[in-house]
Amino acid sequence: MKTHVSHPDILPCERPTRPSVARTPGGLLSIVVPCHNEEAVVEATHKRLVAAVAGTGMDLEIIYVDDGSRDATLERLESIATRDKRAVVVELSRNFGQQAAMSAGIAQARGAAVVIIDADLQDPPEVIPEMVRAWRSGVDVAYGRRRSREGETRFKLLTASLFHRLFARLVPHPIPVDTGDFKLIDRAVVDAVCSLPEKRRYLRSLVPWAGFRHEPVWYDRHARLAGETKYSARKLIMLAADALVISSDAPVRLTWLCSLALALLGVLATGIATWSSMTTTTGADRAGVSLAAIIAVAALVAAAQTAAVAVVGEYVVRTYRETQGRPTWVIRRTINDAGAATGGTRTDRSSRAA
Ligand code: UDP
Ligand code: MG
Repeated sequence: MKTHVSHPDILPCERPTRPSVARTPGGLLSIVVPCHNEEAVVEATHKRLVAAVAGTGMDLEIIYVDDGSRDATLERLESIATRDKRAVVVELSRNFGQQAAMSAGIAQARGAAVVIIDADLQDPPEVIPEMVRAWRSGVDVAYGRRRSREGETRFKLLTASLFHRLFARLVPHPIPVDTGDFKLIDRAVVDAVCSLPEKRRYLRSLVPWAGFRHEPVWYDRHARLAGETKYSARKLIMLAADALVISSDAPVRLTWLCSLALALLGVLATGIATWSSMTTTTGADRAGVSLAAIIAVAALVAAAQTAAVAVVGEYVVRTYRETQGRPTWVIRRTINDAGAATGGTRTDRSSRAA
């Protein structure tokens, strides 16, 4: 069996493709933990992660990505790495944001499966063995789906739930709702995601975009062990807007809707002005006719201008999608492919045997 992303122009993965290990007990499990100002939790997180994964029978590497912390996070991580060689520390040169930190971590990971988990223990590490079980049974992406969420305000719960559902409707590929970044991803999916040349990444839509077999693992999300959330309301709105532009063409389609609404208003006002001018006799009524005519002209001109903007938007968004450079398809596997036996075809940049 081989898996590959087929696209003649795709850039190679930043790290060489590693052959996949069969999904039997053993093999290497990578855990990626983005950390920004998490000095209060990283020690506890490391202990919980190591204990939780012990029963899976897999070798372990835990990749802590220090995302420009200004507190003692890095010192704590250095101390963990000195004591435990399974801990890998990647220090980013400044704060690049969680999406970049997670991407840096999965690009560094060598495992047959890669788990992404927050540093603050909101996602319980004890769920990881369940994800590993799902993976061994053939699931490619075992994503944590939240049954409940402790320690969040009602406002955050409501807005997050609304955003997840709206986002899932506006993005053209399936997006699981009530799901964060906590998930286990098979090596083939990691390679497919890493091989994409796009720089601005939103993993919550990029991993589902890659396809493969996704299944939820239900869990209860806890409150933060210590420290504070790094996301203010303003940052969350910026992230939501960014996620939408990266993953969906809906904002441009909204311009078309505005243009249509204005055109309908213009047609309606034209009808009213025409009908009134035929039935009107008094001076006061004639003023009403003039107002309807002005509204008609203004709405129709605005509709034409908005349509022109929408047309330009269509070209811009298509240019953006092309520069994102996502392949037209991703193959999960091929059967009886002679190319696979000899190491892959010319366009096969990310192959594995399993
Ligand atoms: N994080 C990061 N860089 C940032 C912001 C956050 O690496 O710029 C990490 C943070 O340390 C944590 C994870 O991303 O491990 C999620 O952040 P947080 O817990 O603040 O988000 P919330 O759970 O409140 O949505
Ligand atoms: Mg958190």
